[in-house]
Amino acid sequence: MFGYFYQKDGPPVFTCLSHDIIAHETSHAILDGLRSRYTAPSSPDQAAFHEGFADIVALLSVFSLEDVVAAALGEERTPDSQASNIRLIAKRKVTPDAIKKSILLGIAKQVGAAVNGGRDQALRQSVQLAPDTKRLQAAEWEQEHKRGEILVASIMHAFVEIWHARIKALGTFKGGKYNLDLVVEKGAQLADQLLTMCIRALDYCPPTDLDFGQYLAGLLTADFELVPDDSRFRYRATILESFKAYGISLPSEGCDQTTGIWRGFAEAEELTYSRSNYDAMTHDRDEFFRFLWDNRRILGISDRGYIEVVSVDRSIRLGPDGIWLRETICQYVETAHIFGAETEAVLGAKRPEGVSSKDHIEAFGGGVIVLDQYGRVKYHIANPLRGGKRQADRIAYLSNQGLLRKQADGRSRFASLHLKRMEG
Ligand SMILES: [Zn+2]
Repeated sequence: MFGYFYQKDGPPVFTCLSHDIIAHETSHAILDGLRSRYTAPSSPDQAAFHEGFADIVALLSVFSLEDVVAAALGEERTPDSQASNIRLIAKRKVTPDAIKKSILLGIAKQVGAAVNGGRDQALRQSVQLAPDTKRLQAAEWEQEHKRGEILVASIMHAFVEIWHARIKALGTFKGGKYNLDLVVEKGAQLADQLLTMCIRALDYCPPTDLDFGQYLAGLLTADFELVPDDSRFRYRATILESFKAYGISLPSEGCDQTTGIWRGFAEAEELTYSRSNYDAMTHDRDEFFRFLWDNRRILGISDRGYIEVVSVDRSIRLGPDGIWLRETICQYVETAHIFGAETEAVLGAKRPEGVSSKDHIEAFGGGVIVLDQYGRVKYHIANPLRGGKRQADRIAYLSNQGLLRKQADGRSRFASLHLKRMEG
């Protein structure tokens, strides 16, 4: 889907030349490389997450092209001197409403125009979705691109709020105009910080059956680890409010209900490190597996699944105050093949209606263990195999989608989804 397509009348549309489309498609690929289970059918949220994440990266990365941003906003010269080099922009062009409507926050304008019969319209302009706490529950918002837009809107709404606040704090010239270059610079800075948060959030998300609320907690934790004090620009508070306004609530377990940050691992004292080598544990999957196995009961890992350590990655991040944050992100997945009759015994879940005791179910659990710079467990963020309601919901979803009895190929799913969407 990365090349071009023909419109009914008119020249071909070269999707391979669109910044938005390249960023979107590449994000799918990178995300899949980091968290391969997110393409598996699981829940409306997980399918939508891939789409939303790809759009968020595409939208925020445009801001690294500062000339493009300036051109998209529109500029005016200082009124009293033609020779002045200061570029200005009228207040009315940078109100939250004007920003939301601008071409800047739309995805794939040319493709949008082509599939909308030449009307000047982006393919998606999610930020224009007004906040609504009920939308996530509506059946029509289960489709993945549509549902993904709710996630995009939550982030971009927060982006516009913070950017606008920072623009307002700038001084104005005669006629209430702002210095365009400063406006763009603030936007670029903010987009870069927000994009980094959105990507780093993945380190603090469970590797299976992700939902929007867990992603939110991952996002807030990623930022908290690097910038403990949020009082200056209130990024986290604004993001939390924005997600809430779109009906995305924090996970009911595992995170602080005020700040939204994941709680640190509570039973750290009870873990056994004696058989594991600290240093090897931070880069060797076998060594990390040994640690998991020795501590499986405290970590809530079931004996019933096949456990795989998917990755052990070192992470080094530089905070705004020049302090390095060193962590190791270890990802494991548990897989169990069970019969419907074993749902209660293995998954701690009631067998959903429509699923027979003889149905074969492939169930997953998994977690991310974040080690601090000393190789000690700091966070354990998991959706365990014995997941109760989460597992029951997943089985019911697969059963309703007709996916319980067949293996879906997650990767080709995205290509066909994009094509279907374009054909409208
Ligand atoms: Zn996509």
